[in-house]
Amino acid sequence: MVVGAGPNGLAAAIVLARAGHAVEVYEAADTIGGGCRTAELTLPGFRHDVCSSVHPLAKASPFFRALPLDRHGVAFAEPTIELAHPLDDGSAALVHRDLDATADALGVDAAAYRALLDPLLRDWPDFIEEILGPLRIPRDPRRALALARFGLRAVQSVTWLARPFRTPGARALLAGCAAHSMLRLREPASGAFALTLLTSAHAVGWPFVRGGSQSLADALAAELVELGGRVRTGWRVDDLRALPGLRPGVPVLLDLVPRDVLRVAGTRVGRGWSGRLYAAQLRRFRHGPGVAKLDLALDGPIPWRAVGVGAAGTVHLGGTLEEIAAAEVQVRRGRVPARPFVILTQPGAADPTRAPDGRQVAWAYCHVPNGATVDMTEPILRQLERFAPGVRDRILAVRASGPADLERHDANYVGGDINGGLQDLAQLFTRPAVRRDPYATPDPDVFVCSSSTPPGGGVHGMCGYHAARSALGHSTG
Ligand SMILES: Cc1cc2nc3c(=O)[nH]c(=O)nc-3n(C[C@H](O)[C@H](O)[C@H](O)COP(=O)(O)OP(=O)(O)OC[C@H]3O[C@@H](n4cnc5c(N)ncnc54)[C@H](O)[C@@H]3O)c2cc1C
Repeated sequence: MVVGAGPNGLAAAIVLARAGHAVEVYEAADTIGGGCRTAELTLPGFRHDVCSSVHPLAKASPFFRALPLDRHGVAFAEPTIELAHPLDDGSAALVHRDLDATADALGVDAAAYRALLDPLLRDWPDFIEEILGPLRIPRDPRRALALARFGLRAVQSVTWLARPFRTPGARALLAGCAAHSMLRLREPASGAFALTLLTSAHAVGWPFVRGGSQSLADALAAELVELGGRVRTGWRVDDLRALPGLRPGVPVLLDLVPRDVLRVAGTRVGRGWSGRLYAAQLRRFRHGPGVAKLDLALDGPIPWRAVGVGAAGTVHLGGTLEEIAAAEVQVRRGRVPARPFVILTQPGAADPTRAPDGRQVAWAYCHVPNGATVDMTEPILRQLERFAPGVRDRILAVRASGPADLERHDANYVGGDINGGLQDLAQLFTRPAVRRDPYATPDPDVFVCSSSTPPGGGVHGMCGYHAARSALGHSTG
């Protein structure tokens, strides 16, 4: 049995069904997908990704790659430019799929960019599977070496990694990618996010899913149903003891955050001294900042000042490295930045199916303190207008969602934290608790499979994959 039909819950269910088990998935919402859903949030015909929008991790996921997702209708739609980072002088740093094209456009920083990313791109096939799983030393020496080479850079802060770079554009590019982590940019391991995201842009691209993220969740569910599994929506599980047909020996996998693992399964995972220790660790689990999001319906493309930005699927709005660093520090101190770092996607750059002819949708979010109730519509729009003057005239409708709205949409987004828990060095691999097998609990039949386990946030299904393998008795170490 699986509780929660997010990408990780569905991935876990598929692994169990493939192993010959009869699998039931219980989902609280009326639609499946968790953070992987698409809906007409503004006007009829405008299809917005409610949560996830850009899918480098889904495309890179070894588990998803092994599934016949295309047969179930999934098509990745890649923009001509993966990522753009506009600056106040009217220029923009652009990330192309091709590493050399990206480096060459960075001028004096071309060599530094190649030196940082070329080795990682070559090692990508050897280390991606390792970083999308629990911390372990690979048996294959080639993989171990690739992982070590990545790890030595990844533990550094992004401000340290950015030291050899001289242009504001290249430095901002690194900062924007690192800021996805919601860590302070001087914090160890903030570099890991910059390196993973930039290498992924060159290795697999930053694609959308044609038609919206929902297509990916629907395809996972279709695969599960084909394997004989079943998903029951509108079924919120508040206590495992109320699950019909649950008997001792039937494994249950929880696509839940630690707070809800305790609420739903506390009587089982918290028994005995090891259970009390486990429960205490879950209670101490730390959530990161929240996000505030805008969905825009537009009557045409965004009028970007800098050349090339219109062709990018993702745009980072926040100015220089120093400015982004200052905004993220404020958020971690519990303050709301006046000029927040904004991540914007324009799916129309690759996928024309999201809006009626000639129209566009855009999705933009910024970080705010966990649980903040402030309305970020104006600060986000000001950052957008800073790099796209006149954009307000193109807006047909706006929908704003704060941390509480996101948590109402999906209980896993505690206080608006979209990563299932803070992903700092101390909690990246020890989520949700310090254990040899992070997916197992003190109850031999209960497992956690959400993004609160390694490798953490993002749509890749790898938490679910590893948790299900653990439930099937495979070693995760
Ligand atoms: C605004 C936003 C933007 C994002 N952007 C991206 C992006 O561009 N790319 C990317 O890769 N990732 C992105 N993410 C993160 C990504 O969506 C998540 O990391 C991912 O969905 C986690 O998958 P999951 O299966 O662990 O949990 P979820 O997707 O959160 O699924 C959990 C499921 O469990 C259900 N559930 C919870 N409690 C119960 C209960 N008691 N009983 C029954 N069911 C329950 C929920 O309703 C939900 O369906 C974004 C998230 C948000 C919110």
